[in-house]
Amino acid sequence: MMKSGYLLLAGLLFAGCSHTDVRNAETSRPSVYTVNYPLAYFAERLAGDQADVVFPEMEGDPAFWAPTAEQAGEYRKADLILLNGAQYAKWVPNAALPQPRCINTSAGLEEQFIALDGSASHAHGSAAAHAHGELAFTLWLNPELAVHQAGKIFDALSEWADLDKGALAALTADLEKLDADLAAAFQSLENTPLLGSHPVYQYLTARYGLNMESVHWEPDAEPDAGMWRELADILETHHADVMLWEDEPLPQVKQALADKGIKSVVFNPCGNRPDEGDFMSVMQANVQAVRNLK
Ligand SMILES: [Zn+2]
Repeated sequence: MMKSGYLLLAGLLFAGCSHTDVRNAETSRPSVYTVNYPLAYFAERLAGDQADVVFPEMEGDPAFWAPTAEQAGEYRKADLILLNGAQYAKWVPNAALPQPRCINTSAGLEEQFIALDGSASHAHGSAAAHAHGELAFTLWLNPELAVHQAGKIFDALSEWADLDKGALAALTADLEKLDADLAAAFQSLENTPLLGSHPVYQYLTARYGLNMESVHWEPDAEPDAGMWRELADILETHHADVMLWEDEPLPQVKQALADKGIKSVVFNPCGNRPDEGDFMSVMQANVQAVRNLK
């Protein structure tokens, strides 16, 4: 008895390594790992209780996170690995993830990718500085692109579970409403010069016809002299009086900007799981922050 049980288990484990259609033996639900929070939020809504969606707890921006060897191993064992594409999650290319189980949620959007130029593509400043690479990756800030990503997730999950089409319709409707809300909120700011504190708002800018120039600052750090000079250079030709921030900036930075007539507004891209609320509530808070500028 013991032996045959062991062999059965060993057989299941072996099958799990070589085939994509063997589910987590304990739960019978597929395990779905994601590289950022928006993809996890979409997957959670689309799968309901049909999948175990995992987005590991991490500090900072998931785009520049690196897993431990153990965490990378967990990703490799997942039934599905949801990727953002557009060179997001710099750790992915070197992690030997199993290609057949990787789903690039932005496949098909390549013509809408936005190339980065200027400071964002290079590391500079402090030791903690990071380079964004060649492509802007915050695709989900254009809800139309987020709808595409959600559709890719739904298709991939449907291979594993009997999903409710109503969940996709509801998520799509929420994203379309967000799109309409953002369009209305930004309408009065069209062509108004705006500042981004970090180069993450490109797809938002493109979608809503904004006129934004970005520096490469962090909400929890004080810009050095060179970074202030860079802002001064931008302001010479780009007379902005609003700066969008990923999170509440340091009070002294906010005050220094206010002294230059620049108002700080939090527009959280929500790449990481929020402390409170969820993707939609954070996006609605962003909408409200823009509305409040009027
Ligand atoms: Zn950056």
